Amino acid sequence: MKLPVLSSALLALSFTASADAFENKVLLIGIDGLQYEKIGANNTPNFDRLYLTQAYTGGIAKTQTQQKTKSGPGWATILTGVWVNKHQVPSNDSGLANKAYPSLYRYIAEHDANADISSFSTWGPIHTQFFSDDVALMDRRSEGGSDDDNLNKALATLNSGSPDFVFLHLDEPDAVGHSLCFGSAYNKSVEDADKRLGKLLDAVEAREQSGENWLVMVTTDHGRTPVVGCHHGEQTEPEKTIFIATNKVLNKEFSSKDVNPANTDFSGLYGYPAQTAIVPTILSYMGIETNVQAGFESTPMYGDLGVRKLNYGNKLFTWLNGANVQTRVYRNDQLIETLPAGVAQWQDPQPVSGINNYSFEQQGVHVGYRVTELKLSAAHQWHNTKSYFFSEDARYWRYDTVLDKTDDGYPVSVTNGNWPGLGDYAEQIRASFYKDSGTVYYFLSDGQYLSYDVQSDKVRAGYPKTIDNNTWPGLAAYANKITATLRWTSDKVYFFLDDGQYLRYDLGDDRVDSGYPKAVNDNTWPGLGAYATKISAALKWNDTRAYFFLTDGRYLRYSITFDKVDAGYPKAIDNGTWPGLQ
Ligand SMILES: [Zn+2]
Repeated sequence: MKLPVLSSALLALSFTASADAFENKVLLIGIDGLQYEKIGANNTPNFDRLYLTQAYTGGIAKTQTQQKTKSGPGWATILTGVWVNKHQVPSNDSGLANKAYPSLYRYIAEHDANADISSFSTWGPIHTQFFSDDVALMDRRSEGGSDDDNLNKALATLNSGSPDFVFLHLDEPDAVGHSLCFGSAYNKSVEDADKRLGKLLDAVEAREQSGENWLVMVTTDHGRTPVVGCHHGEQTEPEKTIFIATNKVLNKEFSSKDVNPANTDFSGLYGYPAQTAIVPTILSYMGIETNVQAGFESTPMYGDLGVRKLNYGNKLFTWLNGANVQTRVYRNDQLIETLPAGVAQWQDPQPVSGINNYSFEQQGVHVGYRVTELKLSAAHQWHNTKSYFFSEDARYWRYDTVLDKTDDGYPVSVTNGNWPGLGDYAEQIRASFYKDSGTVYYFLSDGQYLSYDVQSDKVRAGYPKTIDNNTWPGLAAYANKITATLRWTSDKVYFFLDDGQYLRYDLGDDRVDSGYPKAVNDNTWPGLGAYATKISAALKWNDTRAYFFLTDGRYLRYSITFDKVDAGYPKAIDNGTWPGLQ
């Protein structure tokens, strides 16, 4: 931030009169919803003044980084350099982005308190929702209004004073696309955006002629639906396709597509630069060093390269080496291994559990990847359209069974504030089931259980109690072995044990049915036999379907109607199958 502007008469003599915070300055232009292919298809002479590459957004589909190809998640990535599993802006309605992953505004302001920062955003939520805490860092800003209003503010900033960083968001291609889809009006909006770009490039070039160095980056938050272009939000190749344009020669992360990416989905789209590359590129150009905690998921496209195209699959990290140097591997900010030059894959010898932030460093450049190994401990229905999931690390998720996704803001830690009386036992939960609209039971690792009053939303007085022949007749001998419970139809509940056996309990008779325990095998539970000792949670979805969750991050769908595992299972628990459950 800067003190009040110098007099314009003085500034007219020279743009560089003041002691500048940064030798290298940046103009970042975001054009909302501008489809990459429409740049080349229209008359865009000002884009022709720049280097242009295809790129991608939406995270890596079916992994924890998958995010909606919408404006909120897209701009959050453009301004933080991380995906939704870190910035935590899953939708356009989201509030503040996760402050553990600072914005460009904050990186620049914290590097130099005198940095001159401007941000003009036709789409207001960038300032009013996701980065509202960063507004105080801006010397000049605006939100809302028209593209020309904000263009003129950006031009006024570039034509006077000593700006170090200017962000401008233009909205017209997206707005026209939503109302009229692809067509002549959309094409005109692209050409209009190009004309605005031309004025901005002229202003930057004038500053460069007076001795300043300016990196211009132009990008978009998301593509558009296939063929017609009316909408966006999903994981299709055109919606995931974005572009990055720049006035400077960048390194090969920008200029050299990986033609053989580890993940070949979407016609090899992941071989292009990621939307997460923009922030580290700008910081590298401005000379702002970052560290292992930054968590950027891409190497910068300017300056030294770190590992490129870092990929994680089947517990193995693979990458392209940007230079022939050692790679230092960090887990949760601790250096754990140094790999010789030339090595381009690594597997953690230690089993992964909970949340682990990995970072691979070459030449001082850190590229991060978060691995979350989900160990569900329990799941149960609720009296509305929600189900709850609990993990061994004491977090829980509220899952909307109609929208079939995790509600925004989850997971959060189980506390006595959100689950009165359960918080103290959160790490001991091993199984749970929804008995009826009055009661949920939780079974603990020490052989005790809790009765939760659904109506008053708290654990009943006097709990936990011991599982014995008064409380759960027939179950006491197995109380320490319970690993999952499944509320079945009528009065039946199944208890699954860690040794691969199970019991059936009759809630009406209030005792274990005779003849149990039995082995879980392909006669008693067709399709489940191979996973009998891997069940960590079970959930009744409705009267025809249940789910079993396994200790290895996979799940099975069980047909109550046909009494067998459905074909095609197990599948991985990921953002495609259980959105947000990780
Ligand atoms: Zn849009």
